[in-house]
Amino acid sequence: MIVFCEECGERYVIEADEIKGSAMIFICRVCNDIIRIPAPEKHHKPEEKEKNKAEKKK
Ligand SMILES: [Zn+2]
Repeated sequence: MIVFCEECGERYVIEADEIKGSAMIFICRVCNDIIRIPAPEKHHKPEEKEKNKAEKKK
């Protein structure tokens, strides 16, 4: 994937495999701005099942 520095427009080519965890952060070599790249979502989120609570009258 290609990432642009928001400050100076420098272009970086980042491999998705380089992103560890939920995001990757590095510093632009041109302007020293901090560039944050969120990891691409590969896996499905588990469906949240709402527990149907049977309301019982006390
Ligand atoms: Zn920059």
